[in-house]
Amino acid sequence: MVATRGLLIVLSGPSGVGKGTVRSAIFKNNPFNYVYSVSATTRQSRPGEIDGKDYYFVSREEFEKLIETDALLEYAEYVGNYYGTPIARIEENLAKGNDVFLEIEVQGALKVRQAMPEGIFIFLAPPSLQELESRICGRGTDDDAIIFERMQMAREEINLMQHYDYVVVNDQVEQAVAKINSIILSEHLKVDRVIDQINADIHNYFQKGDEE
Ligand code: 5GP
Repeated sequence: MVATRGLLIVLSGPSGVGKGTVRSAIFKNNPFNYVYSVSATTRQSRPGEIDGKDYYFVSREEFEKLIETDALLEYAEYVGNYYGTPIARIEENLAKGNDVFLEIEVQGALKVRQAMPEGIFIFLAPPSLQELESRICGRGTDDDAIIFERMQMAREEINLMQHYDYVVVNDQVEQAVAKINSIILSEHLKVDRVIDQINADIHNYFQKGDEE
């Protein structure tokens, strides 16, 4: 049997679009056994977050060590904190045939695209900018100036959608989850991914015949 490498799946999109909510919904049951890529961050943990499960919470010094030692596939500074994707577990899991799922912001996703263009890049889009603004306001954490800044940033991030393979509009979380799972299922069925296994089977079958 030819070992098939797992898929690298990158879910990204503008701040406030609901990436975290969609990712949590995917991992609630996780019927397809995706491996979640736990990021490192210098931000404080929030109540209920678990170190090593939600994030690896590290100091700035520790994070800078990770950068220096090339331990990160990508990293970005976001709202005053570092966030980065440790590379070792990704490689290990892809080699084992496991699908690895990243949920990261747009700058980081574009860096991953450069480093691993074979990944599947999914852009989570808001149903409308008006709805995005309502979601950001609904968090109740930002004042008007910050909301305006986030909306400007969202416009720039949406302009980067062309670098992705798929767009999923996050209208209803359950529907977005179903669409993402079906994208990944279809990617697994692509001829390029299956052909080596089928050719190996043909080869084995006829070789056995020749030996008999
Ligand atoms: P939060 O602080 O709300 O958990 O995450 C803030 C933002 O950082 C979200 O947009 C999230 O997708 C992004 N993020 C989480 N981990 C990473 C990472 O490893 N790299 C990058 N570039 N962004 C990340």
